[in-house]
Amino acid sequence: MSTIGVIGTGYVGLVSGTCFSEVGHQVICCDIDEAKIAKLQRAEIPIYEPGLEELVKRNTNLNRLSFSSDIASVIHRSDVIFIAVGTPMSPSGEADLSYVRAAAAAIGQSIRDYKVIVTKSTVPVGTGRLVQEIIRSNQSDPSIPFDVASNPEFLREGSAVHDCMNMERAVIGATSDRAAEIIARLHDPFRTTIFKTSLESAEMIKYAANTFLAAKISFINAIANICERVGADVTEVAKGMGLDSRIGNKFLQAGIGYGGSCFPKDTHALKHIADVSGYDFKLLEAVIETNDKQRMLVIEKLEKAIGNLTDKKIAVLGLAFKPNTNDVREAPSLTLIPKLLEKGARVQAYDPIAVEEARCYLPDSVVYTQDLYDAVRDCDACVILTEWKEVVTMELDHIRELLRKPVIIDGRNCFALERMRQEGFEYYSIGRPEVL
Ligand code: NAD
Repeated sequence: MSTIGVIGTGYVGLVSGTCFSEVGHQVICCDIDEAKIAKLQRAEIPIYEPGLEELVKRNTNLNRLSFSSDIASVIHRSDVIFIAVGTPMSPSGEADLSYVRAAAAAIGQSIRDYKVIVTKSTVPVGTGRLVQEIIRSNQSDPSIPFDVASNPEFLREGSAVHDCMNMERAVIGATSDRAAEIIARLHDPFRTTIFKTSLESAEMIKYAANTFLAAKISFINAIANICERVGADVTEVAKGMGLDSRIGNKFLQAGIGYGGSCFPKDTHALKHIADVSGYDFKLLEAVIETNDKQRMLVIEKLEKAIGNLTDKKIAVLGLAFKPNTNDVREAPSLTLIPKLLEKGARVQAYDPIAVEEARCYLPDSVVYTQDLYDAVRDCDACVILTEWKEVVTMELDHIRELLRKPVIIDGRNCFALERMRQEGFEYYSIGRPEVL
């Protein structure tokens, strides 16, 4: 079996590397962040992903998975090298490829025999060719052959291990049949659908898929906003739409919009790719704008419910951009909490696992509680930003007793309207009638 090297041990690199080892491959994960590698060598997992810790420990003990910050040695020992470094949004909206460029340069400097270099990071069309050029220009012996390929990652944070172990498809865009076949064989144990494409198409598939999902979310949110105005209930509307197999019921949950490390940056990156290619992607522009506005509904609804926010104490439930992750990148909480503070409110925040991350981005005046009920105590209103299990299953009668006023602004439509009426709340959700 091939030895796999993974460059970049973040959400994608660590999870996919671990899953490749779980199915029997030899995997070495490396990162420039030496502290992260040192932690992993002590079997401490730097991110929260259900099931990940167990898999890392098992495969490390079986000597199938190891961690290193010596990139040259990882390249020497690997047959296939996956690039899984970050591609964050640059100020222009375009994907920042500096980490990909650095990884490609390091590979070029260390390559001694045939390798397949696979980009797993989400990158604009043309990046595979760029990686090829960078490797070539950094090789001390340009006669050493290598192939480049694109194998975009589709896992979702919060269920990343499950998604990786049960991947629905592996998209492989390679520059040679030999490379495509090597990558396809690596996926044999996953028993997944292999879809071979050109390098360019594989790169485009990832952006097209993510922006389509983002569009679905913005679409249902726009429908939700109309529902509020005309007296319909978006949960019923979405269910009725989703019963049509051409539409499907996934990604039709109205709320305060998408966040996270992928959709915001990938929608902007594709918009930039379209602009540069000369196509005015108005539809995508509207998807982004709809999403940006959607999260602000929380503030509007809160002011409608309790008036001026000066000196009001607000409980914020959920800081992570979605449940089951500690990732707060582009989470609604990072925009909304500063807005609440700016308006003079005081914020008590609860999240089961993302507090440490959120603290790095939020003002010091935010008070964090370990217990959900402590966050709600003596607050003028409670705002739900993430549909954590702890939030969805909270004891509503206790919450009502702890709040100064029984007001809940639910950005994730966690509760049935009838139940909230019976529990005696003033309840504002998204795209559904108010409970007053
Ligand atoms: P991340 O920020 O969690 O991890 C990136 C890692 O790469 C960091 O640990 C960083 O230290 C390391 N790194 C940067 N430069 C390096 C270098 N030159 N050599 C070695 N290591 C280096 O990022 P992520 O969330 O894992 O995302 C990685 C890529 O995968 C992005 O392009 C992203 O769009 C894509 N992706 C992410 C997800 C997701 O859910 N997070 C899903 C699918 C695709």
